[in-house]
Amino acid sequence: MKSMTVTYEVDGSLYVNMTNRCTNNCDFCIRKNGDGAYGSDPLWLEHEPSLAETEASLFSRDLSKYREIVFCGYGEPSYRLADITLIIKKMRLRYPGIKTRINTNGQSDLIYGTDTAPYFDIFDTVSISLNAPNADDYAKLCHPIYGKDAFGAILKFASEVKKYSPSVVFSVVDTFMTEEEIAECRKIADAAGIHLRIRAYIPSDSK
Ligand code: SF4
Repeated sequence: MKSMTVTYEVDGSLYVNMTNRCTNNCDFCIRKNGDGAYGSDPLWLEHEPSLAETEASLFSRDLSKYREIVFCGYGEPSYRLADITLIIKKMRLRYPGIKTRINTNGQSDLIYGTDTAPYFDIFDTVSISLNAPNADDYAKLCHPIYGKDAFGAILKFASEVKKYSPSVVFSVVDTFMTEEEIAECRKIADAAGIHLRIRAYIPSDSK
């Protein structure tokens, strides 16, 4: 089912859905089992919202009441990085001090073919899905279009983006990893000086 749910509330934050495109096809992706997330309306988009459509959805709300504005998608949000940047600049004029986060798969360098970390300085938090402790396991679990090159690019992006965003976090989904694999991910995160968040698998959560 397709809709135009561009913004939706999750646990005191406002999530922004600007794309369904993604470079991965993760086994644990919430999109495989439903069409929403965290009780939202369907998040498969009839079309990618334009900058104007996204701003209309955002600014129809009182943004001061949200803990964070989270650019997440029902896909990989960095595909819309230029528009997100414009939106955040405008949001900050209207709501100084507003907090922003992007939930990314960390593959923007591969998407754009250049170093993208400097452009992430607009986010207060950059949350990167690590998902596996090595390139082979990542490719098996997440099926990136870039194959085994994806994992190294994610690690490089993570270490670079720390220079530009005040808070960088790695995440893994517990159900799809052994304790040993999680321990290996923790070592990678510790070595990079990045906090590791272990999150629960969400099998299906649409309305
Ligand atoms: S990176 Fe995110 S949106 Fe893309 S397939 Fe994986 S879980 Fe789904």
